[in-house]
Amino acid sequence: MKTIGLIGGMSWESSLEYYRIINETVKKKLGGFHSAKCLMYSVDFEEVEKLQRQGKWDEATALMIDAAQRVKKGGADFVVICTNTMHKMAEEVQSSINIPLLHLADVTAERIKAQGLKKVGLLGTKFTMEEDFYKGRLIKKHGLEVMIPDDEEREAIHNILYNELCMGEIKKISKDKFKKIIDNLVLKGAEGIILGCTEIPLLIDKEDYEIPLFDTTRIHAEEAVEYALQ
Ligand code: GLU
Repeated sequence: MKTIGLIGGMSWESSLEYYRIINETVKKKLGGFHSAKCLMYSVDFEEVEKLQRQGKWDEATALMIDAAQRVKKGGADFVVICTNTMHKMAEEVQSSINIPLLHLADVTAERIKAQGLKKVGLLGTKFTMEEDFYKGRLIKKHGLEVMIPDDEEREAIHNILYNELCMGEIKKISKDKFKKIIDNLVLKGAEGIILGCTEIPLLIDKEDYEIPLFDTTRIHAEEAVEYALQ
């Protein structure tokens, strides 16, 4: 079994899910007392969020590279960045270490293609929904069609993510807002929805939806196990 190197803390609430799902998946696959060989370097999210808000991406990149090098020094065989947003600097992180980085957009795209879907809605932080680092990869590398919510909806999602979910708060009114936004994407032709922020699964009740939902936290954690056991 390879050792999984997790870069967590963005937010720690979602990193807990990674840890839980990774260990549950190893147990399901190997049985007995098996659990995952892994280590996590968990950042102080206050520092990261501030750099994001101020647009200081060079400093944020340096922080992620430092985190990746720490998990590598700790003995990780590959790296998992436990957030969609911080894949913005995935290439820089990958070139700073000589072990593989398991890219979240790639493993998610593979799941979508395996279900035969092509047109998906993407929910996440404004960085993830609006910039090219994630959406562009889904389109160019994987040939998917990616739809995003309108301006007002993107603003609402972003605020719910940072002001509520990353603070550990779950509100019914925000659950309803997400439902409305997803329903709108379905009306516009989305065949599946990427929950492209690792906190969204904490808010959404999957049984409320008929459309396939791609939970990036679960997918990334399960694929990390898959890779670790190869
Ligand atoms: N966990 C979130 C994501 O998956 C957002 C937190 C962050 O800014 O990293 O994008």
